[in-house]
Amino acid sequence: MGILNLMLDDEADEAQEEFFFDHIEKCIICFSHYNVEKQIRELLKRKLQKRKVPTELAIDIRNKIVQ
Ligand SMILES: [Zn+2]
Repeated sequence: MGILNLMLDDEADEAQEEFFFDHIEKCIICFSHYNVEKQIRELLKRKLQKRKVPTELAIDIRNKIVQ
């Protein structure tokens, strides 16, 4: 289901969103697939955000040394 991927990427328009939520109300397969994928993506996002902090800190420290 293509709309499922659009939803996960936040690229679905309003009509697609409406169709999607209408569909997962009746379709447990898409419903559970959507929830699992969403959780995976949120976990990955959190991991990426954590990795960003040391990089920003390193840049900050480097800037202080250069100044
Ligand atoms: Zn379905």
